[in-house]
Amino acid sequence: MLGKVCGSLTKLQFCRKIYPTTRSSSNLSMSEPVILRVLASSVKIADRAGQIVRDIMAGGQLGIVEKTGKNDLQTEADRSAQNCIVASLQAQYPDLTVVGEEGEQDLSQVPAEWIVRDYEEKALSLNCTDDLSSAKMSDLTVWVDPLDGTAEYTQGLLDHVTVLIGLSLGSRAVAGVIHQPYWNYKNKGGPIGRTFYGLVGGGVVGLNPIPPPEGSRIVATTRSHGTGLIQQALEIIQADTVLRVGGAGHKVMLLMEGQAHAYVFPSPGCKKWDTCAPEAILHAMGGKLTDMKGQTYQYHSQVEHRNSDGVLATAKASDHAWYLDTIPQVLRYHTPGDYQCGQ
Ligand code: AMP
Ligand code: MG
Ligand code: MG
Repeated sequence: MLGKVCGSLTKLQFCRKIYPTTRSSSNLSMSEPVILRVLASSVKIADRAGQIVRDIMAGGQLGIVEKTGKNDLQTEADRSAQNCIVASLQAQYPDLTVVGEEGEQDLSQVPAEWIVRDYEEKALSLNCTDDLSSAKMSDLTVWVDPLDGTAEYTQGLLDHVTVLIGLSLGSRAVAGVIHQPYWNYKNKGGPIGRTFYGLVGGGVVGLNPIPPPEGSRIVATTRSHGTGLIQQALEIIQADTVLRVGGAGHKVMLLMEGQAHAYVFPSPGCKKWDTCAPEAILHAMGGKLTDMKGQTYQYHSQVEHRNSDGVLATAKASDHAWYLDTIPQVLRYHTPGDYQCGQ
């Protein structure tokens, strides 16, 4: 039985300083750049959130509710994973601005074992360009999608699911963590889950970027939020293969691992928490993610949450212009009437 979240929920997505805490101890050296400290913590926090996502599925009580409609779901895993992430960040970095997909939640009952305080040592040695290393806490916004691919999670397509933590400096997406809680899950007895992360100008750790194959065109797009415009764009591109898969994080991962050349989504359903981490990591490895007009999204904390002009991402930045040139403007430039939330 589905519950119903009232329409005001989506207005409560700005979660700043919602978790006042006296536990501000961090064993990270204050001499490390702030951005690396937050990134290093986020890696471990994403791992913990992924464990929560698996535990809730294993327990079988998904607690599904509709947010804006039947194509926009939230489960207990979305809520709990966000609580873990936001409470952990706020415990260590009380002045950090964090925007979570699931809105402002009551963090007073978050179990102590969900509060992560350790950090990924290796992340502290990433090369940090001057502008990034001088960033102050107040310059950063963290965009949290605690469970990307909720529809697929509820349908058992578990490898489409990711936990996304993206860091923006001012308006730019500059760093990100992607955790895939069900990576390798079909290999019984093998390790489960993986985490990788990246920093623009500093490279990527935890994933070996593989270029997509020459001589073919493989395009990834939505499987659960399709529209006529998306279909028309795909036909014009004449892809050899169209991969209809869930999750923004998952689709960008396909680009990173050589399984697709492009991610094409001329529709306004994605939000900043869907694209911040994937965009930063993709850019760190030489790809490109923009809206369907070719413009880079902004990620400062006051920005509109919705990615109104869709998503166009390519594994190789040099391929990006071809898609902009080939897909006609009429399919790339939306009017507000094209879209209804939860479509
Ligand atoms: P998809 O590619 O359909 O898996 O979507 C990628 C991300 O964007 C997911 O977090 C979806 O929930 C979100 N999204 C895309 N389209 C819509 C839509 N029409 N309504 C609500 N969320 C959407
Ligand atoms: Mg998402
Ligand atoms: Mg989500």
